Amino acid sequence: MSEKGKQVGATVSQLLAEARRRFTEAGVADPAADARVLIAGLLDLTTTGMLTRGNDLVEDAAVSRIEDAIVRRLAHEPVHRILGEREFYGLPLSLSAETLEPRPDTEILVDTMLPYMRDLAGKHGNLHMLDMGTGTGAICLALLKECPEASGTGSDISVDALKTAQSNAERNGLQKRFKAVRSSWFQDIDGMFHVIVSNPPYIASSVVDTLAPEVTKFDPAAALDGGMDGLDAYRAIAKDAARFMHPDGVIGLEIGFDQRTDVTEVFEAEGFRCLESVKDYGHNDRVLVFARHLLATSG
Ligand code: GLN
Repeated sequence: MSEKGKQVGATVSQLLAEARRRFTEAGVADPAADARVLIAGLLDLTTTGMLTRGNDLVEDAAVSRIEDAIVRRLAHEPVHRILGEREFYGLPLSLSAETLEPRPDTEILVDTMLPYMRDLAGKHGNLHMLDMGTGTGAICLALLKECPEASGTGSDISVDALKTAQSNAERNGLQKRFKAVRSSWFQDIDGMFHVIVSNPPYIASSVVDTLAPEVTKFDPAAALDGGMDGLDAYRAIAKDAARFMHPDGVIGLEIGFDQRTDVTEVFEAEGFRCLESVKDYGHNDRVLVFARHLLATSG
């Protein structure tokens, strides 16, 4: 807060300008957007509200909440971590310490899997889905929302993540079709699935520490670190997936930008074939879909 702001009380637009200025000075990547999203979130205003209510005075308690939030952002905490939630595929999702913040690129996995889901749901009359390493539940809950015939299991090794996923299911009215299960990959999973999805940790251990502090300090390492070559989770999933999949089932995975060939080889070695490879908004390979090889020759 500026001296002047303190004396007269601060308006929404003054607070916004102040936050933007401090973020710009500190070299925050997108200062204007961060200032707007942070203050709108804290004041519970829409983007339009931020404009039309620009001259409203903000009460002292909210001003000090905004100040605290600005200080946290300046210490590299991402805006949505500070707010404790973000939207994914139109669903508001709470975040917690052990959940990865859902990324827009991951919505591509949802878009890619939906046609397979609808096709399989049509054929079978119902559909069982497994989302491994579900975190906030983002992928599973978005797919459940879009595919009313589906039920989903979200598995995770983190109890904190499972609690968050469960409460996100409730928050979005999807709890009747969602089950949270603690498991390291397939270790404690029961049942057969038509669709398996995952955004597993896929960053090579040596690379994790080189990422932006927004990621290294605030996203859980367990959701990022994919072992020495970044492929550990894919090997674990590929090794057992066939035993948990209906013969015409599919498996959809988020991958790192340079992992298409490696992940495809891992799955081919376990009897799968790649049905589709999809790029993200930055034109990087981001999603792979696999099916059992059996079907490729018979279908
Ligand atoms: N896409 C995430 C990042 O770039 C990584 C997510 C993951 O490892 N699954 O930080």
